Amino acid sequence: MSDIKCPKCSGTLEQVVYADIEVDRCTDCKGIWFDSLEAQQLKKIKGSESIDVGDTTTGQQFNEMGKINCPKCETQMTKMVDLNQSHIWYEKCPVCYGIWFDAGEFRDFKQENLLDLVKDIFAKQRA
Ligand SMILES: [Zn+2]
Ligand SMILES: [Zn+2]
Repeated sequence: MSDIKCPKCSGTLEQVVYADIEVDRCTDCKGIWFDSLEAQQLKKIKGSESIDVGDTTTGQQFNEMGKINCPKCETQMTKMVDLNQSHIWYEKCPVCYGIWFDAGEFRDFKQENLLDLVKDIFAKQRA
């Protein structure tokens, strides 16, 4: 499935595999496409932020882009806010549940876990 195009800049999406989970990353803007639960699965895996190689500034520019269509099924995607990190906006397809993260957003998304881990450690120390 390397013939799918980036929904933001029309660049080519290339397959990137991390811990047997396959995602599609744009060769130009470095945005990342995750199938349904892949983002959540990868978030739990150590080191997975290394797939997000893009420049945060570029990602922020593309984040401004409102209406995009799902690269897989071409349905208009819905802008979502991460429940735990309200500064992270991502796009989700209402039909195939794919998720689009702009460059830098997955690193940010993932960081929440590390912070939570640190908070947990402090909480245990205080207990
Ligand atoms: Zn792109
Ligand atoms: Zn879709």
